[in-house]
Amino acid sequence: MPYKVPFVNYPLQYSILKKEIDEKIQSLLLKGDLYLRDDTIQFERNFAKYIGSRFGISTNSCTDSLFLSLYAAGINEGDEVITVSHTYIATIASIVHNRATPVLIDVGQDYNMNVELLEDAITSRTKAIIPVHLNGRCCNMDKIMKIAKNHGLAVIEDAAQAVGAKFMGKTAGSFGLTGCFSFYPAKILGCYGDGGFITTDDEVLADRLYLLRDNGEKARYLMKDPEEAKDKKIYCFGFNSVLDNIQAGILNVKLKYLNKWIERRREIAKIYHEGLSEIEEIQLPPPPSNNSPYYDVFQNYVIRLKERDKLAIFLERNGIETMISWKTPNHLQKALKLDHFKLPETEKISKEVISLPIYPELTNEQVEYVISTIKKFKKECL
Ligand SMILES: *Cc1c(COP(=O)(O)O)cnc(C)c1O
Repeated sequence: MPYKVPFVNYPLQYSILKKEIDEKIQSLLLKGDLYLRDDTIQFERNFAKYIGSRFGISTNSCTDSLFLSLYAAGINEGDEVITVSHTYIATIASIVHNRATPVLIDVGQDYNMNVELLEDAITSRTKAIIPVHLNGRCCNMDKIMKIAKNHGLAVIEDAAQAVGAKFMGKTAGSFGLTGCFSFYPAKILGCYGDGGFITTDDEVLADRLYLLRDNGEKARYLMKDPEEAKDKKIYCFGFNSVLDNIQAGILNVKLKYLNKWIERRREIAKIYHEGLSEIEEIQLPPPPSNNSPYYDVFQNYVIRLKERDKLAIFLERNGIETMISWKTPNHLQKALKLDHFKLPETEKISKEVISLPIYPELTNEQVEYVISTIKKFKKECL
């Protein structure tokens, strides 16, 4: 049986944008514009501008954006990089694949890096910090940037879940040496496959990243002198992490709607908050507010309760699809050999959090149905 409230609904968004998307894809196919063409150039310019960064490098994923950022920043064997366990595994993998050592610290009540623990984790080998702006809420970048500056550390922001989020008026991905984004379909700005992005204000680093993502070659549009095209120069050993031009075209269509989508997500978060705040057994995220230093974009609407597993089953039975991120914390995944880290809050959170459906196309009726079903759960099961 189909869900009354599915967790994601790709066909629904497509049906709304169908005409524009179809025209874009068809025109690119007819022109043969498949690789690093006008739509890529345009998207790199527009997305960097949206974030408020000087340079933008499109990539195939946030995973590679994180890896390439650390690589370009010179992170290497013997170096330590501080991040959290409470994140998607790609954050930690980007450190390991650079042969560096991940140092995992605990998160706070808002599920983001607990900045009070940051200085204690810094050693003489520490080279970088990866703050993860989880669920669409920025980390406290004021404190993180101050600590990083004091210790001479690079900050690589994992902004995969925080496109458009702000802290003290500044956009996620514009604080650190680089900001890394994901256009995976379920992300707030999603393409129809994998896609990613790196923002930076550092011109030298940007030039290096353009080369690294394309096997050390310089795309024609980046050449300042047309003579450069003649000798097919290879500038360095690189990787193949290019964003498909068709995905860039799709993202150019969708970028126009991003602010509207974020506003709708905040509206839904507000409805959830008003509907659920009377249930004292459930901890809600802070409601969207114009007076807060945090401008949250609600990639996920995460609630927390002791009877999480029971609620998941109850919602499933009532036609509501939910998601749990992450049932097993990454540092307790046996294969990864990271269980020497003791992270009590992360471990507690993993037993108590559940994400409710949130995306712009949800109707208010669906949101109200989720709320009334949770109230029924409270009456019958809590
Ligand atoms: C989605 C996600 C990633 C990985 O993004 P991809 O584009 O799928 O590689 C990294 N970090 C976080 C926090 C994410 O949510």
